[in-house]
Amino acid sequence: MTRYIFITGGVVSSLGKGLGSAALGALLQARGYSVRLCKLDPYLNVDPGTMSPFQHGEVFVTDDGAETDLDLGHYERFTGVPATATDNTTTGRIYTSVLQKERKGDYLGATIQVIPHITNEIKDFIREKDGTADFVLCEIGGTVGDIESLPFLEAIRQFGNEVGRERAIFLHVTLLPYIPAAGELKTKPTQHSVKELMSYGIRPQILLCRADRPIEEDERRKIALFCNIDEKNVIPALDVSSIYEVPLTYHKEGLDRQVMDSFGIKDLPSLDLSIWENIVHNIKSPESDVTIAIIGKYTNLTDSYKSLNEALIHGGISNKVRVRLKFMESEIFENEEPEHHLHDVNGILVPGGFGDRGVEGKIRAAQYAREKKIPYLGICYGMQMAVIEAARNLCGIEGAGSSEFTKCDVPVIGLMTEWVNGNEKEERSSEEDLGGTMRLGAYPAHLLKGTKAMEIYGSDEISERHRHRYEVNINYREQLENAGLKFSGLSPDGQLPEIVEHVDHPWFVGVQFHPELKSKPFDPHPLFVSFIAAAVEKGRLV
Ligand code: GLN
Repeated sequence: MTRYIFITGGVVSSLGKGLGSAALGALLQARGYSVRLCKLDPYLNVDPGTMSPFQHGEVFVTDDGAETDLDLGHYERFTGVPATATDNTTTGRIYTSVLQKERKGDYLGATIQVIPHITNEIKDFIREKDGTADFVLCEIGGTVGDIESLPFLEAIRQFGNEVGRERAIFLHVTLLPYIPAAGELKTKPTQHSVKELMSYGIRPQILLCRADRPIEEDERRKIALFCNIDEKNVIPALDVSSIYEVPLTYHKEGLDRQVMDSFGIKDLPSLDLSIWENIVHNIKSPESDVTIAIIGKYTNLTDSYKSLNEALIHGGISNKVRVRLKFMESEIFENEEPEHHLHDVNGILVPGGFGDRGVEGKIRAAQYAREKKIPYLGICYGMQMAVIEAARNLCGIEGAGSSEFTKCDVPVIGLMTEWVNGNEKEERSSEEDLGGTMRLGAYPAHLLKGTKAMEIYGSDEISERHRHRYEVNINYREQLENAGLKFSGLSPDGQLPEIVEHVDHPWFVGVQFHPELKSKPFDPHPLFVSFIAAAVEKGRLV
C-alpha cells in the first residue's frame, strides 16, 4: 500500500521545503521503507528549461532527459532514488495536456473547467505513482495563498479525501520570524498560513516550523492550540550549518515518529541513521581545506549551481577536507589578470553556461589553469571553452570559437545537426524551439584506455547526463590531440567528444556532460573525488 505525504509551504518562499521533503524521504528510508519524491510546480512554464538561472536557479536534468526543478536534485542527493520525468509537473504542462485532450475531443463535448478537468489531471499525475513506493512524498511549489497554487491544493485535498486518512497526510512548512524588539519568535504568520490552508479544506497533521533559534514550549503550545494540531506534531526545524545534518535534526525533533503516528503506524520499524552520522562527522572534522574558484556568469545566485556546489562538498567529504568555494564572474578576467584573483586557489572550475557574456573570461581562466598547472575541471560550457583555448593558443587557430557566440570565424564548437543514439538517429536544426530540444539526459560514453578519465572512473563504459545544444567538432581531434589535448571519452559511435584532458598537466579535465547531477554525499562522483584530491595535492605543493 502506497502512502502519500503532501508537503506545502506557508508564510514565505525559500523555506527549504524541498530539502525538508528530501530529508524526510531519507528518514523513511532509514526505517527501511521505499520512497518516491515528486514536485508540483504552480508556474506556467511547461518546464524550467527555458528559464534564466537567475529566475529559477539550476535546472536539474533526469536520466530520461527531463529538465526539472532543482528540488529534484535534493531528492536524489538525499535518497539516491534517480528522479524521472514523471516526478515533476507544472501548471503549464497540466494545461497543455488538458488542452491537447480537448482538441482531440476526449472530453466528449464537456465544458472544460479547473474543477474537475485540471484537478483530475493533477490527481492523475499523483495517482500514477501508486504502487511504486511505500511512501510518495509530493511537494507543492510556491506558498499557500498564491493564486497559481489553488488548483494544486484543491487536487490534493480531493486526493486526500479519496484515499483516506490512513493513506494521505499533509505536512505544512512555516516560518517563525524572530522580532528583536519583542525578543521572541512570532507564531502569528504560522497561524494565518494554517488558517489559509484550512480555508481550502486542508488540515495539516504536521507543522514543520523553521526558526533561527530554539522554539520554547510555550510557543509550541500556542501554535498547537491555534492551529488545531497535536503539540507533538509541531516540529521545530532550526537552521543548521550543513544541509546533511537535516535528517538527523528532524529525527531528533521526532519528525519521522510523528509521521508514522499520523498514519496510525504503531510498530515503528528500527532506524539506521549511520550513513548520515558518518557524513556529518566527516563534514565537521576535516583534516584541511582547499579553495576552488568557480568561474561562471550566474555566480551571485549560488542556487544556479546547486548540484555543483554539493558535488564539490561531496568530493571534500571523501577526501576529508573542507571545500571553500570562491565564486567569480568570468567577465572579471576580460579586464584583469587571472593571476591577481587565482594565484592562491587550489582548483579552478568553469561550470555550464549559455550565451556570449563572459566567454572570453572563461577561456582566459582555462588558459591560466593550463599554464600554471592548476587542477581544472570544465563542465559542459567549461569544457567547450577549454577546447577553444587549446585550439587558439596551442593549435594556432586564431578565430576558434563556438557557433553559440555572436561572432565566430572557426566553429571548433558547433551545432550537431544529427547523431545516433542507440538505434535511433536524432536530428536538430538551428530553427527549432528552445524548450526541450537540447541533447538532454543520460548518454553512454566510451573511455579510452590509459587515460586519466579511465583511471578516474575505473571503467571504460559510463553514462552521464547531458544538457547542451553544441558539441566539440570531431574534425579537430587530430590537431588538438597533437597539441596535447587528448579526447579520452567519446560517444559510442565515436562522433561526439565527451571528455578531453591535457596530457601534460597534473589534472585538467573537461567533460561535455554534467557529473554534478549524479553525485551524492554517500556516493560522491568519482570526477569530483579526483578533482578535489588533485586540489589537495596542489595545496601541498604550494
Ligand atoms: N551553451 C553550451 C551548449 O549549449 C553549453 C551548455 C551547458 O553548459 N550546459 O552547448
